[in-house]
Amino acid sequence: MGLLGQTWAGLADLVLPGTCAGCGTTAPGSLCAVCLGTLDGLRPHPVRPTPAPSGLPACVALGGYDGVLREVLLAYKERGRHVLARPLGDWLAGTVAYGVRQAGYPDGTPVLLVPVPDTAAAARHRYGDHMCRLARRAAVRLNATGWPAGLAAAVRTRPRPDSAHLSAEGRAAEAAHAFVPRPRELARMAQAVGRGAVVVPVDDILTTGGTLTALADRLRGGGLPVPVAVVLAATRRRSGPRGNGA
Ligand SMILES: [Zn+2]
Repeated sequence: MGLLGQTWAGLADLVLPGTCAGCGTTAPGSLCAVCLGTLDGLRPHPVRPTPAPSGLPACVALGGYDGVLREVLLAYKERGRHVLARPLGDWLAGTVAYGVRQAGYPDGTPVLLVPVPDTAAAARHRYGDHMCRLARRAAVRLNATGWPAGLAAAVRTRPRPDSAHLSAEGRAAEAAHAFVPRPRELARMAQAVGRGAVVVPVDDILTTGGTLTALADRLRGGGLPVPVAVVLAATRRRSGPRGNGA
């Protein structure tokens, strides 16, 4: 996309203020009442890709990667509707709280969120790191409810090509090399964990689990336990191993 196209995408919220990101109908804000109700009705739950890579932490998701949630994530991530960071971050906060409880920690256990970082190129294209923005909002939300939460930039990304065309094996191999640990940040996090904090990787979409496995490996390499990872949406399997399932 040329510069003009990027500017246009970045301005989508200004030029199209009255369009629901979920269904495209005219709406007073960024979501219509119906789509807002649909998303508010989602309940976090445990998810697991099949097959799951060895080393993938327990995962929880707000919903499946389909319907309104998929449309809203795409609008936020690929169509520059940054205003959606607020509701999406709030839903992420609720999903994090559920995940931490699910992992056996009491309410209010300090949380260190580790957003999966965009590559530098993707962050440029999206006018900022999209998961970092969501995690920041989720931390604000958690803190507002009295649940201490902060962000940790535990790793940086290496430049890598888009993995959409790769097989599960190819993605796993590539993801394993995608992240470079930041030793000082990992040491700071280890101190927080020593004082009782829990480390929670967060991402937008769980597909094969390769990305979260690679991130968790880097965190464990820094001596940090990773009891649970949290995503907004998980892809659902469309068919069984022989193509005849649901
Ligand atoms: Zn709608």
